[in-house]
Amino acid sequence: MGAEWCYLREQETKQLHDSYSSFSSSYFMDKSSSPSLPLRSRRRLLWVQGPVIVGAGPSGLATAACLKERRVPSLILERANCIASLWQLKTYDRLSLHLPKKFCELPLMPFPSHFPTYPTKQQFIQYLQDYAQHFGLEPAFNERVECADYDPSVGLWRVCTSSWTEYVCRWLVVATGENAEAVLPQIRGMDEFQGPIIHTSCYRSGAGLDGQRVLVVGCGNSGMEVCLDLCNHNASPTLVVRNPVHVLPREMLGKSTFGVSMWLLKWFPVRMVDRFLLLVSWLMLGSTARLGLARPRVGPLELKSKAGKTPVLDVGTLAKIRSGQIKVRPGVKRLRAQGAEFEDGKGEEFDAVILATGYKSNVPSWLKETDFFSVEDGLPRTPFPNGWKGKSGLYAVGFTKRGILGASMDAVRIAQDIERDGRTSQGI
Ligand SMILES: Cc1cc2nc3c(=O)[nH]c(=O)nc-3n(C[C@H](O)[C@H](O)[C@H](O)COP(=O)(O)OP(=O)(O)OC[C@H]3O[C@@H](n4cnc5c(N)ncnc54)[C@H](O)[C@@H]3O)c2cc1C
Repeated sequence: MGAEWCYLREQETKQLHDSYSSFSSSYFMDKSSSPSLPLRSRRRLLWVQGPVIVGAGPSGLATAACLKERRVPSLILERANCIASLWQLKTYDRLSLHLPKKFCELPLMPFPSHFPTYPTKQQFIQYLQDYAQHFGLEPAFNERVECADYDPSVGLWRVCTSSWTEYVCRWLVVATGENAEAVLPQIRGMDEFQGPIIHTSCYRSGAGLDGQRVLVVGCGNSGMEVCLDLCNHNASPTLVVRNPVHVLPREMLGKSTFGVSMWLLKWFPVRMVDRFLLLVSWLMLGSTARLGLARPRVGPLELKSKAGKTPVLDVGTLAKIRSGQIKVRPGVKRLRAQGAEFEDGKGEEFDAVILATGYKSNVPSWLKETDFFSVEDGLPRTPFPNGWKGKSGLYAVGFTKRGILGASMDAVRIAQDIERDGRTSQGI
């Protein structure tokens, strides 16, 4: 192929991707419209018959499966060497799904009935592997997308990857997730601190931290659960709680809190449901403010829908805080060689710091499009449920702040839309 721009013939393109090659129909191969693109770089150029999907997490897999069901071929590009890299490579061992399995299913394939209500991380990964196998999804691994832009002169997307390849396609599906990159805050004195400082994406378990004093910065679901794990490994965690946070029991009245909330929202306004959730939480957990975890003024569901802030579902951390096994401290003012100084002026010694400071989207770093995706946070500008479709064949899956449930809804809509678009342009 040399360094020239060229288009792969249909057969060569199909060899790229097994699932891709299994489509015998050339329904989406509009050879007549294969445009001649100007020479732009020395990259290998590949024409993709259906959409390119960036990311092989649950969102990307779900979209490819829904497309496949409609006999639309697609190509998944994944920067890691495996599917669901967030789950396989960046999560702690004791993680289970935070929500019941019925709210975390991908389209077209339920969880096995013998799985527990809250499948473990390993079970969830197994489910995703079985899902990929069932639908014959074979992403191109080690393909980090570095740049993608729309060429209006030919009406196509150009997607450049780390392997010096440029994929050209009519539809681009962004499935890189809300959690693509770790958020690492700059804390004064970080370079002075003599112990290890790691992000939760590098934390697997408290094994090896026996007897150590560990400062956990951030009190979302991950920070709370890491503290619990540290306790279970005989370490002494201190949880930094800088902002108000809603902590709810994972279950209430024998049902998942999430399920109860969804059901109540069908009948009652969000503020009334919030009042109910807070009352039951208070009856079950007592005052969290007394433990150092003040509640926001806005209720948990209203806050989630307005600011995207997820309430913490307690899986036992509060009991450890109450018993004094986990200490709670206000924001960190600065780190010192042997410890930390807090905003209340007090100081303490620590052996290690774990940053449970969350993740962010990486879309602005590679997608050269700013109408649909915000450059500030890398999320679609249009709020749920309309943030899945942009212009010129651009789609977003899994950016709803509604976890896997939201991603599944996006995936179904995107597949329908791309199939319809393909049919329309073929005059079918
Ligand atoms: C600790 C934790 C627990 C969670 N628990 C739940 C839960 O119980 N229920 C729930 O619904 N949600 C949960 N979530 C949210 C969860 O992240 C998502 O629901 C789910 O993983 C999102 O899937 P995704 O495919 O959109 O993103 P991801 O799983 O992040 O997958 C995105 C993929 O894109 C790849 N990628 C990124 N950038 C590029 C690039 N430039 N080029 C190529 N590939 C790229 C990544 O390597 C990754 O494989 C949890 C999140 C975390 C961090």
